[in-house]
Amino acid sequence: STWWGNVEPAAKDPILGVTEAFLADPSPSKVNVGVNMNHIREYLPMGGSVKMVEETLKLAYGENSEFIKDKRIAAVQSLSGTGACRLFADFQKRFRPDSQIYIPVPTWANHHNIWRDAQVPQRTFHYYHPETRGLDFASLMDDIKNAPNGSFFLLHACAHNPTGVDPTEEQWREMSYQFKAKGHFAFFDMAYQGFASGDPERDAKSIRIFLEDGHLIGIAQSYAKNMGLYGQRVGCLSVLCEDEKQAVAVKSQLQQLARPMYSNPPLHGALLVSTILGDPELKNLWLKEVKVMADRIIGMRTALRENLEKLGSPLSWEHITNQIGMFCYSGLTPEQVDRLTSEFHIYLTRNGRISMAGVTTGNVGYLANAINEVSK
Ligand code: PLP
Repeated sequence: STWWGNVEPAAKDPILGVTEAFLADPSPSKVNVGVNMNHIREYLPMGGSVKMVEETLKLAYGENSEFIKDKRIAAVQSLSGTGACRLFADFQKRFRPDSQIYIPVPTWANHHNIWRDAQVPQRTFHYYHPETRGLDFASLMDDIKNAPNGSFFLLHACAHNPTGVDPTEEQWREMSYQFKAKGHFAFFDMAYQGFASGDPERDAKSIRIFLEDGHLIGIAQSYAKNMGLYGQRVGCLSVLCEDEKQAVAVKSQLQQLARPMYSNPPLHGALLVSTILGDPELKNLWLKEVKVMADRIIGMRTALRENLEKLGSPLSWEHITNQIGMFCYSGLTPEQVDRLTSEFHIYLTRNGRISMAGVTTGNVGYLANAINEVSK
């Protein structure tokens, strides 16, 4: 059985439980005098918008996922991707207090803060290979094999931040196979669904491979990037369970964790998402816009590389177009980054990560010239 197999349903919240019971009651004469109700200003339930969560699960698990039909997924609306990761880390700590989390090197810096504050000890696994500026697959597989059975791994589902380096489909399959052999638990952080290939369905491939192989997994989803809803803080945490009964228990425990932290998630972003994804026409429009965004970024990668090559840079800039998603891990040193800022007024993090979303037809020439100057 799974590591959360012994999780029992949490007790109902004495205040918010009243509204939950009211909403679930089909009687036409029902009256709620527990709390104030107002359909665009009211509290969402602790687990968030049911409709938003349902649409969000379809994006990750697939439109016709049997897991959704069988109600095997414990899912709650989260405070965007960060909140989903944090809620999971707290759940992990509560029900597997002696566990650790394996995090790739490098990763989004906030992952370290999140699991640190949840008091889950961190281990690392190899990911990026500085010389090839690609994936260090052999070391990654060794680390999966050498981790104690039943370890927790944090995986970026697509468009790895900060490197822009993702495993190939074949490599995901090998990882999934090895995870199975070791009984590891995969937690997918999917902050950029749609940004890698332009197609959210294709970008969920890593997750689908693990699902096909029968893994029970966790997923953090975010609409910050792919719907531009950064400040709305809308996302989802889900955990695939063995059956509906377990999913109900896990969801109630996730809600119980949320109650003393923020009580319930914000409403407006959830309404935007459920309105868009719940309407086939609007959803198609959104899918088209995601593709436009991703294609623009891919176009800027080509332009940046071509500009550098035209300037006669003797270095290889192939990785700019090999990497995917929002970021380019340029390979520039912290000193070269400092020069970009002090001499050329170009701002980026000292690990050399370029956000391709900030590169435009208007500034790509200037950027390429500056990169060429500092990397000579
Ligand atoms: N995970 C990764 C890898 C990210 O890069 C980000 C944002 O930069 C997030 C999660 C979470 O972002 P948000 O909390 O805005 O959804």
